[in-house]
Amino acid sequence: MEFQSRRSSSTMMMGALSTLSPHQFSTLSQVLGSTFHLHRRRRLALLLSPALFSLSLRHLRSLSLHHKSLLIARFHLSTLKHLTLNWDVHVHSGGSAGLLRLRDVDSALLLLLLSEFRHHHPLPLQGLSTSKCRGLLLDYVLGRHMFAVSALGLSTSTTCGVVSSYIHHTARFLDVIGCSDIAIGKTGREVATSVATVVSLPSIKVPARHTDDDNLFECVICKEEMREGREVCKLPCEHLFHWGCVLPWLKKRNTCPYCRFRLPTDDVFGEIERLWGLLVNKSRMSNCQ
Ligand SMILES: [Zn+2]
Ligand SMILES: [Zn+2]
Repeated sequence: MEFQSRRSSSTMMMGALSTLSPHQFSTLSQVLGSTFHLHRRRRLALLLSPALFSLSLRHLRSLSLHHKSLLIARFHLSTLKHLTLNWDVHVHSGGSAGLLRLRDVDSALLLLLLSEFRHHHPLPLQGLSTSKCRGLLLDYVLGRHMFAVSALGLSTSTTCGVVSSYIHHTARFLDVIGCSDIAIGKTGREVATSVATVVSLPSIKVPARHTDDDNLFECVICKEEMREGREVCKLPCEHLFHWGCVLPWLKKRNTCPYCRFRLPTDDVFGEIERLWGLLVNKSRMSNCQ
């Protein structure tokens, strides 16, 4: 069952990627490649510096389970943004949910390394001194690196290797947070639209009617007509609303009241849901072609 859903989220991502042009695909793999490279270097720096290591470990241990899952979600969101860059009309007005400080990057890298180590190693790290713990993790990373160079070295140095390794890790993460529920909109959570997005929404004058479709000239929040020439708010999906109606709405939700189009949010999981929705749509389009 779990395998099934993992396969489907990877398949979904591959379907979405197949809609990219060769140029977009190669730009994406370059960005992902350099992000991976930076993360590997930062992880090594973390393991080689006793001071930095103990600082990050102490910070990590001070976090609650909830904060740890938020940290990992924010870490994945920052790379999910690269993947959806080509389809996201909000790239420049997006929320702050994917922004990571260096300390958060360090803690996330350490947390991911610890769980990977636990997965491959029977030896528990609990109860060990910080320096012993650092030594074991360093040996593990260097050992794995040697193995990768001798056996599978090419896997993350080729364009497809980088992308497939990214898809593998992201699919695993999305399954952990329940992306199959997200994909069918079952989560039912409501989160506020990001403030940066709200302030950048355009104001337009209601145009003269060209069609008989009354729905286009009625604000679906208050059910009243929008008079020609009045300044109203236009959402990216092109739907119009009275400013006085849409602002309180967007304070509580990040969807268009008419068509459910999702706007960016500062909520980490809400933002992952939005980007995942973009991927799912793209993937469906690729199946229809
Ligand atoms: Zn209204
Ligand atoms: Zn809409």
